[in-house]
Amino acid sequence: MIIKPIDAFAFAHQGREAQGTIPLVRLTRAVDGLPEQPLGDAGLVTWSARGEMGKTGLVLGQPLLRIRVQANPVVVCQRCNTPFAYPVDSEVLLQLVKSEDDLDDGIAGGDHAAGLDDEDDEDGEVEGKGFVSNQPEKVVGSHHFDLLAQIEDELILSVPYVPKHDVCPGAQANDNEASQEPVVKRPSPFAVLEQLKHKD
Ligand SMILES: [Zn+2]
Repeated sequence: MIIKPIDAFAFAHQGREAQGTIPLVRLTRAVDGLPEQPLGDAGLVTWSARGEMGKTGLVLGQPLLRIRVQANPVVVCQRCNTPFAYPVDSEVLLQLVKSEDDLDDGIAGGDHAAGLDDEDDEDGEVEGKGFVSNQPEKVVGSHHFDLLAQIEDELILSVPYVPKHDVCPGAQANDNEASQEPVVKRPSPFAVLEQLKHKD
């Protein structure tokens, strides 16, 4: 079950693929602050990684790593305060660079980067999410690349900081202002029983 480090550059050059599962509880950074995660299949992260060489545009000839993460971590709804499984199915494209110096500035040639910005402005409204795959996130590759850390990072980024149900279960019951007052005033069945006893 252990995800071993990979030779990231060879992985990309040779177009290798890998996949597997790992229990959520093993991703300690990702589950930090979350409620207890289920054991068994419900608590598994399914991941896959694929190496490839960029074929077009700015990433032409660049080593890339595509990582997909699927899981259903249990989070606590910040609206109704009950735990629920938040479905994650996320894919990220990473560009492997040689050193941290290569992380900051644009891909070789600032002119190209500027050109890209113009393109984005033109079709930004249409594209939206396609933007992500056009501009991969850069990471420093290595011959002992920590694939597990990347999988965990992607999972962390995919879980909202303030998770909420789309529609909270029992949303009507949770409409507190409307329902709480009558509930408080209604005597409990036990209290009623007590009164009946005393009448005898
Ligand atoms: Zn909720």
